[in-house]
Amino acid sequence: MVKRKSVAVIGGGVSGLAAAKAFDERGHRVSGFERSHDFGGVWELSRSYPDVQTQSPKDLYCYTDHPMPEHYPEWPKGPQVHAYLHSYADKHRLSRLFRLNTNILSMDRRTDGAPGWCLTIEEAGRQRQENFDFVAICTGQFSDKNIITHPGQEQFIAQGGEVIHSSDYTDPSMMKGKRVVVLGGSKSATDIAVNAAKNGAKQVTMVYRENVWRVPYFVGGINFKKLLYMRAQEQQFNQWGKNPFQRVIAAALKPLVWANFRGLETLLKLQLGLKKWKMVPDTPIEKEASCSLPIVTPGLFESFKSGKVKPIQGTFDHYEGNEVILTTGDRVEADLIVLAVGWKLGIPYLAQEYRDKLIESDGQYRTFRLSVNPDLPEMGFVGFNSSFCTILSAEMIANWLVRYADGQLAQQPSRSEMNANIEMMLDWRRRERPAAQVYGGLCSAPFHFKHFDELLADMGAKKRKRDNPLAEQFSYPSAPAYGEFIASAPQYQAQ
Ligand SMILES: Cc1cc2nc3c(=O)[nH]c(=O)nc-3n(C[C@H](O)[C@H](O)[C@H](O)COP(=O)(O)OP(=O)(O)OC[C@H]3O[C@@H](n4cnc5c(N)ncnc54)[C@H](O)[C@@H]3O)c2cc1C
Repeated sequence: MVKRKSVAVIGGGVSGLAAAKAFDERGHRVSGFERSHDFGGVWELSRSYPDVQTQSPKDLYCYTDHPMPEHYPEWPKGPQVHAYLHSYADKHRLSRLFRLNTNILSMDRRTDGAPGWCLTIEEAGRQRQENFDFVAICTGQFSDKNIITHPGQEQFIAQGGEVIHSSDYTDPSMMKGKRVVVLGGSKSATDIAVNAAKNGAKQVTMVYRENVWRVPYFVGGINFKKLLYMRAQEQQFNQWGKNPFQRVIAAALKPLVWANFRGLETLLKLQLGLKKWKMVPDTPIEKEASCSLPIVTPGLFESFKSGKVKPIQGTFDHYEGNEVILTTGDRVEADLIVLAVGWKLGIPYLAQEYRDKLIESDGQYRTFRLSVNPDLPEMGFVGFNSSFCTILSAEMIANWLVRYADGQLAQQPSRSEMNANIEMMLDWRRRERPAAQVYGGLCSAPFHFKHFDELLADMGAKKRKRDNPLAEQFSYPSAPAYGEFIASAPQYQAQ
């Protein structure tokens, strides 16, 4: 018999909702904590910059039992995703499980000697402590702003300049008539540069450090979901855990794989005019593909062409008066600086002694299936297996994690099996696939199918693939199909 547990879910974004549903469904007492006034995480309205939209097409960015509305565009806008998350919470009555405006300040082992964790919770200006049998950490990879400064910034601000983090850009009117410099080359940097130009900025400069491959929504006129998300494509990247036979096959197919990716690169170079903009990356695309691979902001290259956005490869050195001096020696006059330099990955509320067990000195996380660590019992991560279809990844791992917590996986891993797997994955990331080290190694893309296969096998799912082998090989992961696969795993209720 599985005993009912008290379970804390920290975070009310995509992953917190998936975790709360999965644990609640099995009969556990769930207490969700979200520090903001609303659900949604990165999609919460006060955190979204104007015109933000998904990188994933809508049928790849949804829960298994809840498609995005038909009238939504293929790549929904931020407020639409936010409304969709609310509709999911309503459908499963998840609001009753959460306390909003509630911040978790710290997380340590229980003081009563029982297994589990003690959370220090701050709510309405008061602090209290509460013990839980299990904690699902769903605080994402975008919760703590990466704030950087450069010499001379104070004087730049004193003489009227403004410096903001990308997530603080919520009002397009602030761009009007300004000379804007965006620092960064990620999707949010290009989104904001294009948006600033559209909203009346006098001049927009985008300063970015390195050239990276960017994928447009349509590659050669075809929606990228039909080209890049296939099992057949995924198998061409160097996956982890290949057996000797798979290695021989991979070696034999290398020339074909090489030709496939050179073809894709040529197409991207021609379509986007990368040579003209001196934006051809040095790294082969197959070595770079991971969660940090950006989608091209619609209108980006058109803005370069019209001169509305000027790209400069380099970074900031310092400020002088109202100018930013770049490492290239360029001097750029500016009124507003947008630092699109991302987020600090971490779990700041987890006591240091446990963070030391979890995070290696090079920042790589020691997690089994991107979710649990044998030295940190009674806790696991949801959504730290980020991907190109993170809602589905979060739901998959949430369903895996509740079974892990209850000892109900068909293949419940032993401590030594988990450690051996963690070492193998660390070694693979460090030696064979450095791109997989982004976000502390917490990214399952582009290996969605392989990751999901492992989770379903652990769960003992009877059905793990679509009936049509061609659809399975040559089309993108289907959220409803994964709903069926999860449902084919043994079911149980905690009492
Ligand atoms: C602009 C943008 C576009 C994106 N587009 C895509 C896309 O198209 N496809 C895709 O797969 N992914 C995309 N992503 C990645 C995105 O982060 C994930 O898809 C997903 O939304 C992450 O959800 P999450 O719940 O794991 O984390 P978050 O959305 O970051 O939610 C974490 C929550 O935890 C809360 N929290 C943090 N600390 C505490 C604490 N101490 N106490 C209480 N609460 C706390 C935060 O307030 C937040 O609400 C995008 C990200 C951004 C920023």
